[in-house]
Amino acid sequence: MLTPFDQDIDALRASEALFRLLAEQAGDVISRHRLSGEIDYVSPAVERVLGWKAQDLIGQVASELLDPEDATRLRAAMSNLLSGAAEQSIEYRARAKDGRHVWVEAHLRLVRDEAGAPREIVAVTRDIDARVRLAEAARETQRRALLAEQVADVAFWRVDLRTSAVSVSPKFLDIYGLSRGARLSLAEILRHFAPDTRARVRAEIAEHLRTGTPSRNRIDRIVRPDGEIRHLLGSFEFDLDGAGAPAVMFGTLIDVSDLVQAREALAQTESRFRDLSTATRDIVIEVDRKGRIIFISSAVEKVLGYGETELIGHKAAHLTHPDDLPGLVRGFGALIADPTIVPPILEARARHADGRWIWLQGRPVADMAAGRLHGVLRDITEWKQAQDDLAAEHARAEAALEARSAFLANMSHELRTPLTAVIGFAALVVGLEDLPDKARDYVQRISTAGKALLSVINDVLELAKLESGQVEPHLAPCAFTPLVEDTIKMFALGAAEKGLDLRLRMIEPPPRVLTIDPDRVRQVLINLIGNAIRYTDAGSVTVEVVWREDFEELFVAVRDTGLGIDAAHQEQLFKRFSQVEASRSRSRGGTGLGLVISKGLVDAMGGRIGVGSRPGEGSDFWFTVPATIPARDALATGAEPVFEPVRAGGRILLADDNALNREMTRAILGVFDAEIVEARDGREAVEAARREVFELILMDIRMPGMDGVDATRAIRAEPGPNQNAPILAFSADMDFQASDIFDGMIRKPVTAAKLIEAVAGAARVEPAASHVAK
Ligand code: ADP
Repeated sequence: MLTPFDQDIDALRASEALFRLLAEQAGDVISRHRLSGEIDYVSPAVERVLGWKAQDLIGQVASELLDPEDATRLRAAMSNLLSGAAEQSIEYRARAKDGRHVWVEAHLRLVRDEAGAPREIVAVTRDIDARVRLAEAARETQRRALLAEQVADVAFWRVDLRTSAVSVSPKFLDIYGLSRGARLSLAEILRHFAPDTRARVRAEIAEHLRTGTPSRNRIDRIVRPDGEIRHLLGSFEFDLDGAGAPAVMFGTLIDVSDLVQAREALAQTESRFRDLSTATRDIVIEVDRKGRIIFISSAVEKVLGYGETELIGHKAAHLTHPDDLPGLVRGFGALIADPTIVPPILEARARHADGRWIWLQGRPVADMAAGRLHGVLRDITEWKQAQDDLAAEHARAEAALEARSAFLANMSHELRTPLTAVIGFAALVVGLEDLPDKARDYVQRISTAGKALLSVINDVLELAKLESGQVEPHLAPCAFTPLVEDTIKMFALGAAEKGLDLRLRMIEPPPRVLTIDPDRVRQVLINLIGNAIRYTDAGSVTVEVVWREDFEELFVAVRDTGLGIDAAHQEQLFKRFSQVEASRSRSRGGTGLGLVISKGLVDAMGGRIGVGSRPGEGSDFWFTVPATIPARDALATGAEPVFEPVRAGGRILLADDNALNREMTRAILGVFDAEIVEARDGREAVEAARREVFELILMDIRMPGMDGVDATRAIRAEPGPNQNAPILAFSADMDFQASDIFDGMIRKPVTAAKLIEAVAGAARVEPAASHVAK
């Protein structure tokens, strides 16, 4: 009979068998451990998991088979059980028979006896190695992803569509301007999209969700909580569930705001350029190696009337004016030969669509690598026109000036020639011995009036010349002291008549020879001394000369003790037609031009002129002119030529177109015992000079047909009998300077004295008669 204990034992055996059966069949490793730690039992599954056979492990202490760290944890779990914990779970690395570590998960339970005292520990251990390693790999992947995110600035996000759980990477939060701990939902994310795009984005995502198709490289605009706008470049795709419906949606984002801004700025610049190119009339053009247009900007429509694309492919040369092509070819050629040169500015006419020619200007730039020339062409038609107008205007002015100076020269000729005759013949008549007193008086008056008229004519013409800027100084070495002395002598008679003391004071004497414009200096002196005598009734007129060596300048003052001029009038003196008192000068025979002309002459010579005066006390008129000491060789050329005297019975050739002049000259030359041959123009003179030898030739400069200069050149050029004869020029022109083909010059109006002196000087002839008037 079985006792209850036996029954218990049986039951126990039965449950033991059952346990073993279960344990033996189970996939997990089941083991029983004494409280001291030794293994009592381990199921055969251990061989599959760790490679050990069950009997290898019986009696071993489990923790001793582990690495120290895992052993400690296992021991701790066991002692927890002993101190009352119902069960313990730990994960640890078990050591396999081949030395590998295998991750296992163990559930430990304390088994008590009937009395409730701890009896043993049962462990169910599962192989979780694959799972743990997978998790580790996942962690690694995630770590790498984070790294990639940091490096590439790529943000990740993921939405589990079944649970609506959203997970995002830190970068995502950065981009969205959200704090690290923020909780997010898909709706919340969508709220960040720019309001004007939100509805569209929502619809688009819904469409993707519906079809499960991925989205690639979309750009969205979001507004961060701080109000900042960001542009995001994103892609997303889906993980599908078993039924093919999207289960997870995940994607990446890059913040491309900077790029978008740069692109917008670029677009803005571009559109500005576009505005500019539509507003401007400058044409941007590009041509290829063969001169074909590959690009031309829209301004071409405004300037040349062609559409923007109309000219593409056409040769630029076909539009160019044929006359301007060579210039273009030269310019382009130079540039292509050496693209480093400063590109030339080229101008050429291009044909407008309506047939007109438009002037274009541009500076081509060669892009040799690309085989292209480009440049900006500007319409300069108006500018060209203005330039042409200006040139025409200039030519007109030039012509007018020429006409004026021709007129002046003519006038001076026409007026002075008859006066020359009047004065000359008057002088001859006065010289006649048997002249009745009354006749002598009349002739004297004729002479005086003629001279006055001549001086007015000279003044007016001189002023006209000065005003048209035609006066240029004729510098020549000259003995200055004799020049002043001779000029003063001219007034000796006039001064004596008025009882005036006329003196010269050389305060600082100049060198013997100075380079000045002697004729002009003389003219100014004549004006000032003439005025001084005219406006002085008693006392003296003193000419003072100071040579300012340091400045190479002559200072000449004409001081009188005459009427004087008040301050107000002094300022007006050098202006046109200003006479202090019209009555004063009229009564004294002035024209009001002398000082104006003097100032003009002094200005032209580069000097200064001025006055100091007190009414009733007299006036000091002064002027300065630059004067240099000539170099030695200049002096040598200025030396007087020496001629053989005109032989008695020798011949003089007189060339003058004016019969009256010829007659007068012949009359004056009658004092020479010489035969006079007349010529009426240059051609006749040249012919006469071919036929016979002349001791002297007098050549009027201004003659119709061949003038005196040409005739003289012709005579000097041919190896005839007169090639080296002395030739004196006659000229009424103050500006005429005898060039070196002449041996001297006689200024018109010719007076008997002047002519005789000149002829005598040139030919060293003694006058036959002594009654010739001076
Ligand atoms: P004009 O032919 O009338 O003398 P000027 O130009 O030579 O013309 O002189 C202008 C005016 O200046 C004269 O009309 C005269 O009134 C005054 N004037 C010129 N020189 C003197 C002088 N030495 N003394 C006083 N008045 C003078």
